[in-house]
Parts: sequence; structure tokens; C-alpha cells
Amino acid sequence: MHITENQSLQSYNSFGVAAKARYFTVIKYDDDVAELVKWLKQHPLLPYLLVGGGSNLLFTKDYQGLVIHIALTGKQVVAEDTESTYIRAAAGENWHGFVLWSIAQGYAGLENLSLIPGTVGAAPVQNIGAYGVELTDCFFQLEAVDLQTGKMRVFDHAACEFAYRDSYFKSVAHGGYLIVSVTFRLLKKPQWKMHYADIARQLGNQVPTAQRISTIVISIRQSKLPDPAVLGNAGSFFKNPLVEKQTWLLLRASFQDMPAYEQLDKRYKLPAAWLIDQCHWKGYQQGDAGVYAKHALVLVNHGTATGEELWLLAQQIIDSVQEKFGITLEPEPSVIN
Ligand SMILES: Cc1cc2nc3c(=O)[nH]c(=O)nc-3n(C[C@H](O)[C@H](O)[C@H](O)COP(=O)(O)OP(=O)(O)OC[C@H]3O[C@@H](n4cnc5c(N)ncnc54)[C@H](O)[C@@H]3O)c2cc1C
Repeated sequence: MHITENQSLQSYNSFGVAAKARYFTVIKYDDDVAELVKWLKQHPLLPYLLVGGGSNLLFTKDYQGLVIHIALTGKQVVAEDTESTYIRAAAGENWHGFVLWSIAQGYAGLENLSLIPGTVGAAPVQNIGAYGVELTDCFFQLEAVDLQTGKMRVFDHAACEFAYRDSYFKSVAHGGYLIVSVTFRLLKKPQWKMHYADIARQLGNQVPTAQRISTIVISIRQSKLPDPAVLGNAGSFFKNPLVEKQTWLLLRASFQDMPAYEQLDKRYKLPAAWLIDQCHWKGYQQGDAGVYAKHALVLVNHGTATGEELWLLAQQIIDSVQEKFGITLEPEPSVIN
């Protein structure tokens, strides 16, 4: 394990913010994990941060601790039964690359999650989701190292406490576990999720296949979301708020055209993009920090915005939505202060 000092993090966060890490290391091999645990024991007061692709992070300033970039690689089929195939991938594998690989091997289940930036290891952290599928739907188990004791622990589905853009790792463990690999259970008889209007329309009369759905999802995403390599961003910056039925009824009395989607737990999910759009933020720009012109949920870095400037803009958006609707938006990415 090699440690560098004052490392630029610009290429390690999809906002392209020019923050620096006081200490920086890359975890590439199993031995690096053991060395890391030792190093952390020797520096008990130093904060540390696990980073995969940095596509769900906002650095508001330089990081005064150790940034640990996870680059463990490898993927393979590990088991099979009559219904399912089990595939394990190391945490540092690129998520989209892994999805394409699984499709090329003839497996289905991950196609709706095509083109989500980032790594396999971060995918369970916020239970990534898109186009009617969440990671929880195809998750089997994961292996993670307790960074205090160095012990490896296997987390099954229940232990991960998956929820909407949330999990045990995001809400409870807060970086206490380094996820080293994730095992997926992919059904041999695929259950296609095609209820999103854009997917259904583009598929038309064609027979669904994982390859076709993946291609459609990629083209939809490319038409709606900015490519971080061209325009810095972290995807949706805010979670869609969930409210009780009573709150929804009160809101609807004042805002008749407000969309809402009833959830299994009887709460209502409100599209944060709609709320933000009603406050006229779409396309807004303040220096190089802005709101994407095609999507009110996406904050963008037009060039040299600092994390602090982007966070200030996010707070202004939160305040305006709070004032107009009485709803508090929550950021989806981890905001690193
Ligand atoms: C253009 C764009 C579109 C996006 N679309 C979607 C979408 O449709 N759906 C969606 O859910 N998300 C979306 N995202 C957000 C992001 O892609 C996902 O959250 C992704 O899983 C983040 O992966 P990462 O490796 O970049 O994580 P990072 O940003 O590096 O880290 C995210 C969090 O996970 C932790 N972490 C990272 N690796 C590990 C590990 N090995 N062990 C333990 N903790 C770890 C970090 O400490 C941090 O808290 C989008 C982002 C962008 C830029």
C-alpha cells in the first residue's frame, strides 16, 4: 500500500471539483486491505474516506485525512442452481462495464441499471436504482472488511437494510466497512421491467432481451443526463421526498398538478425535479455552479466551480423548495465537509 500526500482529487470525483486529499492511497490487492487496517490503527484520530468512482460525492473543501480509492478487480460466476446464476464482482470493478459483461455472458437482471457511473462496491451503499429496478432486486450478498478489527463479514440481504437510495452502509456504518465484493443472483427466467413509458415506446413490438433493454436505457440516459466527462455532475443531487398521505392531500389542495406516486408503504413519493422546477431553478447558473438546463435535479460544474459553491447553490434550492412547499429536500450524494 503506497500513500501519497496532497493528492489532487479532481479526477476522483465526477463533479470535477479541484479538492485535494492530505493523504491518498489506492487499494488494489487483498494485501492492501490488511495493510490499510494496520495503518488506520496507527492513525486512530485521522479521518478517512472510501472512494470508488467519486460519482456520488461532493467535496466542499480539501480533505484533511486519508482518501482510500478502491480499485479491487475481478468478476466470475460462483454458483448456479435451477433458478439462478450467482455472479461475484470485486468492489473496484466499473459498474457499467460489469453490467455489459453480465449481458454478454447471457445473463439478465442488471440491464435497467446500465450506464450508472461508479463502481460495484458503491452500488449497495445507496442501493442504486433506475427505470424500475434497484440493486436490492438482484442482490445476493456482499463481503466487507470491518476497518476497526480487520475481520471480514458476509452481509446477506436483510443485513444490508436496503431502502430507497439507502442501506446499512450509508445510514449506520458510515464508512466503517470496506465492501470488497458483491454477489448478485440473476434469474434464469428473466423478469423484464418495461413499464417505464420511454422503455416501452422504444421497445415497441420487439421481443425484450437484456441487450435490447440495456441499449434503450443507455440511449434514454444519454439524451437526459450530462456525461460527467463533459460536464461535471453527480447525477440526481436530491432524493425524491416521501410524505405521508395526509401531507400529500394538503399539498394537492394547493398545487393541483403536483405529481405523486403511491409507495408500497402507503407513503407518497414526490418528484424532486418537479418541486425544483416550480421554483424556476432549471438552467440557473451562478458562476460555474449551475442547474442542468434539461434536468432540474442535476447540479453541474460548468468549469471551475468549487465544491463550496455547488453546496451553496444546493442549499439555496433546498431553502426555496422548503419555503414554497414546506418540504425539506435531502441531498443524494455524500457531502464531504
Ligand atoms: C451522470 C450520473 C448519473 C447517475 N445516475 C444514477 C442512477 O440512475 N441511479 C443511482 O442510484 N445513482 C446514480 N448516480 C449516482 C452514482 O453513480 C451511484 O451512486 C454510484 O453507485 C456511485 O458509485 P461510485 O463508485 O462513484 O461511489 P463514490 O461516489 O465513490 O462513493 C459513494 C459512497 O459510497 C462509499 N463507498 C464507495 N466505495 C465503497 C466501498 N467499496 N465500500 C464501502 N463504501 C464505499 C463512499 O464512501 C461514499 O459514501 C449517477 C451519477 C452520475 C454522475
